[in-house]
Amino acid sequence: MMITQDQVVSIHYTLRDEAGEVIDSSAQGEPLCYLHGHGNLIPGLERELTGRSTGDRLEVRIAPADGYGDYDQQLVQRVPRRALKGIAVVQVGMRLQTQTPQGTRAVTVTRLSGDMVTLDGNHPLAGQTLFFEVEVAGVRAATAEELAHGHVHGPGGHHH
Ligand code: ZN
Repeated sequence: MMITQDQVVSIHYTLRDEAGEVIDSSAQGEPLCYLHGHGNLIPGLERELTGRSTGDRLEVRIAPADGYGDYDQQLVQRVPRRALKGIAVVQVGMRLQTQTPQGTRAVTVTRLSGDMVTLDGNHPLAGQTLFFEVEVAGVRAATAEELAHGHVHGPGGHHH
């Protein structure tokens, strides 16, 4: 079966950065299962998978704009430690939710300096060129319920 809009696709993948370091992989577990054409994967990978079939293997290089976006320096802010109320211990690498005028944003603590904390609102992979090795493990039609929800149900999916 070929991958087209509204198919449920399962893939095995290994994701590497430009230095060749493995960032993420499904090799040790279940394949990743997603609903094609609903923005559940980064745009560049979804585009490359369109038209592929079960058993196909591909190697894809994805530029930041087709991945997790370009790195935006404006999303980096320094705040005083006391602004992070209710958080007992603040450590580098910690992921936090912050309130901004645009709503809740996920940020990563990237630096602690004296009483100041640097918060980075970029996706951890923003600005990075990504290298995927992908094998298409399965393709099936989505159910009406999956299409209504915009995601996959059952094994590898969101809920059962
Ligand atoms: Zn659902």
